Amino acid sequence: MPQDLGEPYLRDTDKIWEWLYIQYWLFNKRFIYNSGVWGNKNYKSCEDVILRACRYYCGVHRLTPIPGIQGDFGWLDCHSESILDSIRLFNRFHNMDNSRLNKKVFLWDRALCKENWCSSFKGILEDMNLGNYWINNRILPIELAKIKVYERLERDWKHHCSTKDKLRTYRIFKHDMTVASHLNCNMPKYQRSLISQLRLGVLPLRIETGRFTGLDVADRLCQVCTGNHVENEIHFLFECSEYNEYRHDLETAVNATFSELSIREKFDTVFNHPHSLSRFVTLAYKKRQEKMYRAL
Ligand SMILES: [Zn+2]
Repeated sequence: MPQDLGEPYLRDTDKIWEWLYIQYWLFNKRFIYNSGVWGNKNYKSCEDVILRACRYYCGVHRLTPIPGIQGDFGWLDCHSESILDSIRLFNRFHNMDNSRLNKKVFLWDRALCKENWCSSFKGILEDMNLGNYWINNRILPIELAKIKVYERLERDWKHHCSTKDKLRTYRIFKHDMTVASHLNCNMPKYQRSLISQLRLGVLPLRIETGRFTGLDVADRLCQVCTGNHVENEIHFLFECSEYNEYRHDLETAVNATFSELSIREKFDTVFNHPHSLSRFVTLAYKKRQEKMYRAL
């Protein structure tokens, strides 16, 4: 059980990641156990608990866009787990003897198919283009179901990402729900937090802090250099002349020349080297804070 892992175990980031995953898995399995009987249902309170743990691990505040956190962890949410449980239940009914009470109730529910479990389940299958399994009353292979549930989750996730202003940069480099490399490597929490904030658009650069004072985006200029550029994540990472020295070290470490890469390739390169990136972000952000502080 998680509490048996002990404090010393938690000092290593790799172990914390494992511990967090075990917590997520136990939590999901414990609360979603047998959830198939409830059909197409959202589990907001369960999602909130998992989200809170993820937010703490990333070191981001509560206004951080949820789709960004979900995308960086890449875990199935409670709703998706419950859909899978519903499919397992549907398959069990298929193999069940018609004389059993459960099967009789299922057949009765299916015959009605209006505002009940069967109508809800049918809607889920149709949403995943699996309606023929319902019509033909066939067993739905669970491996296929997992693929379809994941596709459904990813489709909704992309839609939610597109609606969040803070994820303006995130949308450039994140196109699937896979675990972000900086989350499961050994790294001090402060550095993990900086990278997470940068990815999720909540690092307090001018593009973000300018919103608080109602500044137009075009006026949220970098106050560290003299280039009159909007200080967004791209400027901070790849353009601001004040961090050239650190950027040169970063290019050497990742064996790339940023000027030769597209913006997408630049992000892919730096996020695939979380340790090198964390050094750059820590030094650059420290310099930025010193300059901004002196400016005040
Ligand atoms: Zn600048």
